[in-house]
Amino acid sequence: MSAETINENLSAIVARIDAARKVAIRPAAFTTLVAVTKTHGRDVIEPALIAGHRVFGENRVQEAQGKWPALRRVYDDIELHLIGPLQSNKAKEAVGLFDAIHTLDRAKLADVLRGEMDKQGRNPFLFIQVNTGEEPQKAGVPPREADQLIGYARKLGLPLKGLMCIPPADEAPAPHFALLQKIAAEHDLPLLSMGMSDDFETAIRFGATHVRVGSAIFGERTNP
Ligand SMILES: *Cc1c(COP(=O)(O)O)cnc(C)c1O
Repeated sequence: MSAETINENLSAIVARIDAARKVAIRPAAFTTLVAVTKTHGRDVIEPALIAGHRVFGENRVQEAQGKWPALRRVYDDIELHLIGPLQSNKAKEAVGLFDAIHTLDRAKLADVLRGEMDKQGRNPFLFIQVNTGEEPQKAGVPPREADQLIGYARKLGLPLKGLMCIPPADEAPAPHFALLQKIAAEHDLPLLSMGMSDDFETAIRFGATHVRVGSAIFGERTNP
């Protein structure tokens, strides 16, 4: 995809985010576009940086480590979000590299993140991923266990700021966004990471503060 097309797509998504916020009954105070660059290389990422975009999402720690440190040497104000599942044995690298982690989903990972944040003196802000569709193959804490994990993360003093979800692919997303919004409100969590290329406008209606958009900006991914 050409730099020009990436620029046009990026502007179009930003415009659609603004438009969705305008018609939302109670939009969040802000909606940040997390541009998802997984599987893409520097040729695709750099046009977005040149256009002034700074907030990006990756789903694999190792892949992100391979591309972002070099870009950060050129653009020192990049904000990098981990949006994919995190294994405990990658927590050290994740805390070192990312500014936000969207996928805290178990007590054990909370413990490991606490230890790494203390060791490294870095505090990426956290979202708890909630498996709103209770899909067995999907990461995330089941909704009924969310209260407990939120309480535990708070007890550890983790910088927990919000909730994240990925609705089931074959269902209407709105009820899932509504559920996430409800759980977040019950716990006074200000951030909601929800909405992707196909449903970010719906997510904004339900108060999304972070929409994660990949293919609508950078095109279809060849390898998933
Ligand atoms: C890949 C991915 C996205 C972006 O998906 P698109 O449909 O390409 O916008 C969003 N969130 C997560 C967790 C992802 O893995």
